[in-house]
Amino acid sequence: ATPTAIIVGIGKGAEYGILIRNAQSLETLSTVDTVVFDKTGTITTGTPSVTDVLPFDDTVDPEKILQLAASIENRSEHPLAQAILAAAKEKGIDLHEVTGFEALEGIGVKGTIDGKNISVRKPDSGDSSRSRIAELQQQGKTVVILEEEGAPLGLVALSDTIKTEAADAVKALHAKGVKVIMLTGDNKLAANFMARQAGIDKVIAEVLPQEKADRVRELQQQGRKVAMAGDGINDAPALALADVGIAMATGTDIAIESAGVTILQGGIRKVAQSITLARATMRVIR
Ligand code: ADP
Ligand code: MG
Repeated sequence: ATPTAIIVGIGKGAEYGILIRNAQSLETLSTVDTVVFDKTGTITTGTPSVTDVLPFDDTVDPEKILQLAASIENRSEHPLAQAILAAAKEKGIDLHEVTGFEALEGIGVKGTIDGKNISVRKPDSGDSSRSRIAELQQQGKTVVILEEEGAPLGLVALSDTIKTEAADAVKALHAKGVKVIMLTGDNKLAANFMARQAGIDKVIAEVLPQEKADRVRELQQQGRKVAMAGDGINDAPALALADVGIAMATGTDIAIESAGVTILQGGIRKVAQSITLARATMRVIR
């Protein structure tokens, strides 16, 4: 039988907009010593906007960079794609027709325009303009490279904003003795900038979507009790593997299978509150 205190604790959570799946989730939540946050959409608003469009060659028009990038991104659902499309639309740029579209998860997108292979992808160590790219990343910007037939034509820089409550949410976790880590596919420099603003202890960056769960496992192997908080859309395997998955409900996606805890409203501040509730409940029982 489930002790009354646990039923009361789960009921109280529901009142606060914190859905706790079962007694086991509540008990594990009370022992968590590390919270891993997904960056995009969890620590940041997840609605970036274009800040810079820079051709690598003076003869190339920035509008051409934006036009080609937006044409390819038109088929992607990534937040960066939405931002690039919005920038092109704002400038009244018409889009090209694209064939052979392909999305490479955590890397970028590609397709064919007028018989030419075009791709929009994350920078790699082989890119010339490394210093220009790094300078933008140090400002917290995400940089993507537009390539035509394998030749880099220019870059688009985008900036996402940290949620206003992020620093408070982190501070509340620190007050409970919980370590806070940010996990992201984004570049290390840009991620560090965001983490610094939020007071986050550690950044694990440049992680492919399919590798996020592996990073969580490594923390567990170091003896940590890990809660992973994300939107559950592209980080479901990491949420499922964590000792407790905390799904931040967005819009209509409220029933998240892989999560032991679902935060319905109130956002990331509720992560510390849920741990407080779990610890208080277990204290009554023990
Ligand atoms: P995050 O952890 O921030 O959600 P993702 O794993 O979705 O990051 O993406 C990692 C990186 O891959 C992005 O920062 C970007 O450089 C690149 N990328 C992914 N999807 C796209 C896209 N549609 N267009 C351009 N770049 C992309
Ligand atoms: Mg993502």
